[in-house]
Amino acid sequence: MNDKFWIIVISVVLALVYVVDYKLDKANSTEEDLVKTIKSRGYLIVGVKTDTRPFGYLENGKNVGFDIDIAKYIAKDILHNPNKIKFVQVTPSNRLYLLNVQDVDLIIATMTITPERRNVIAFSKPYFVAGQAVLVPVGSKVKTLADLDDKNVGVLYGSTAEKNIRMILPSVNVLGYKTYHDAYRALKSGKISAITSDDTILRSYALTDSSVRLLPKRYTRELYAIGVRKTDESKGLLKIVNINITNMVHDGTLTQLKRKWKLN
Ligand code: GLU
Repeated sequence: MNDKFWIIVISVVLALVYVVDYKLDKANSTEEDLVKTIKSRGYLIVGVKTDTRPFGYLENGKNVGFDIDIAKYIAKDILHNPNKIKFVQVTPSNRLYLLNVQDVDLIIATMTITPERRNVIAFSKPYFVAGQAVLVPVGSKVKTLADLDDKNVGVLYGSTAEKNIRMILPSVNVLGYKTYHDAYRALKSGKISAITSDDTILRSYALTDSSVRLLPKRYTRELYAIGVRKTDESKGLLKIVNINITNMVHDGTLTQLKRKWKLN
């Protein structure tokens, strides 16, 4: 009787543990919550650049560019319609914040993976590789980063280039800008001697304006990835984003987009 009693007690306890555990599991199984939210909302909210040719910029009021096309590919997969996206303008200095306060579901904005950023957000697999470069006026005597000693150099606030140049060349007078337009205007007016940022972004200025040029050296390897929140509710979305990047590699979309936006 004693044995029987204890077997029953243990069975009941195990059953209760199982039920409670199962319920907790259910409550915590928010893995697909954001994907569900996106589906019931009917559109993705993506943080993108609006001043960064050819990745994210405005043309006749519409968001266009390489990063925008990637967002459309993902929207097509999740919502069966590439145009079900609300684009939110982000800059290097506010994008992590806007993601973490849930203003956007994703960030697709020429964003480099860094260990510091990994502390606050999660990154997808990389989808593009750039390198830090220097843009100068054509007549400039500046040939390398070292020639910028004691000069004014423009960077985007919060960018990897800002951090790198402060580290590589502490004697440089770094001036921060919120947008590439502002930095470019400062370069044209002679307020700064150079802009340093990703080659792929700065190249668009050299291509359209023959009075500026990119120096040949690259100082870093910038792996661009898509940012998602580091929370359980975003895990399902991160999985889907990664599957989409793999699919874009295998079905040739990434190669085709690089060609379309002249990124080869
Ligand atoms: N890729 C660099 C970064 O993530 C700079 C490009 C940018 O976002 O403007 O900081």
